[in-house]
Amino acid sequence: MSTKNIQEMQDPGHEFHQGGYEKQQQEAPGLQSEMNPVPDAGEQSYHGSGKLQGRKALVTGGDSGIGRAAAIAYAREGADIALNYLPEEQSDAEEVAELIRKEGRKAVLLPGDLSDESFCQNLIRDALEKLGGLDILALVAGKQVAVEDIQDITTEQLTKTFEVNVFSLFWIAKAVLPHLKPGASIITCSSIQAYQPGKNLVDYASTKAAIIAFSRALAKQVASKGIRVNVVAPGPVWTPLQVTGGQLQKDLPEFGQKTPLKRAGQPVELSGLYVFLASQESSFITAEVFGVTGGMHLS
Ligand code: NAD
Ligand code: MG
Repeated sequence: MSTKNIQEMQDPGHEFHQGGYEKQQQEAPGLQSEMNPVPDAGEQSYHGSGKLQGRKALVTGGDSGIGRAAAIAYAREGADIALNYLPEEQSDAEEVAELIRKEGRKAVLLPGDLSDESFCQNLIRDALEKLGGLDILALVAGKQVAVEDIQDITTEQLTKTFEVNVFSLFWIAKAVLPHLKPGASIITCSSIQAYQPGKNLVDYASTKAAIIAFSRALAKQVASKGIRVNVVAPGPVWTPLQVTGGQLQKDLPEFGQKTPLKRAGQPVELSGLYVFLASQESSFITAEVFGVTGGMHLS
């Protein structure tokens, strides 16, 4: 894990891990702690400055990867955090909780499956109760399974991918909106796959396009309530998603090599954007999509 300070000026093509990655496979959802190399989600490298003092945030997929980077950054900016993840990811989630508590912030662990509508409702109820409200929703959780031939995408995989990536956003939004105050921010997670879909990700790419339409429509619907909704669309980022079937094994050695910066991103490289979109500094920004792609750009 990197001990660098991401705020130091340096050549972006030559920081973080260079080159591709060794083949490695874990069963989904996988553990960040067992990856080689372990991704940098800001554990040592992200430094906060009080931009979210006293805010209350729910981060789904907060145990690992991009959600973990958002959760660590939010805590270092002064927010209390509720984390959602799957029960198999408890050990990754506990590491994040420890880092949040080290900042003197509250960490509430709420494991459970987002493909279940009643769980989504309970998640919001519990987060509201245990944090005393919610101001920020970073909805980062996602399911990605690469399959070379559409004939091999089962209806079970198709349904689960839509439930986790798209339906859970509807269920969570319906449950939380009556409780959000003006100034609240919802941040969803799409992908470059919505714009440049890969041939092995037909179902996943479709969900990521749906997330953009969902987020933009919702942003317009809730603007008059003072609630903003924006989308983060990452390019290739080194996270458990990629070693649990998100990429074909044969593609891992080349992962991220085709970006203009010639490397994959690390989760901490999304931290600043997640903080910005959650904070009042982005007050005139809603219904927007932000690419973090190493130069592959969205369209
Ligand atoms: P990750 O594996 O660290 O995070 C995905 C998380 O989704 C898991 O930690 C898990 O907690 C959660 N999840 C999956 N199924 C769930 C379920 N049924 N119920 C509850 N939680 C569930 O990987 P990541 O790359 O950080 O993924 C975060 C988001 O980023 C995803 O939405 C993904 O589509 C998106 N994304 C990632 C990349 C990339 O290259 N890593 C690129 C574009 C978009
Ligand atoms: Mg995880």
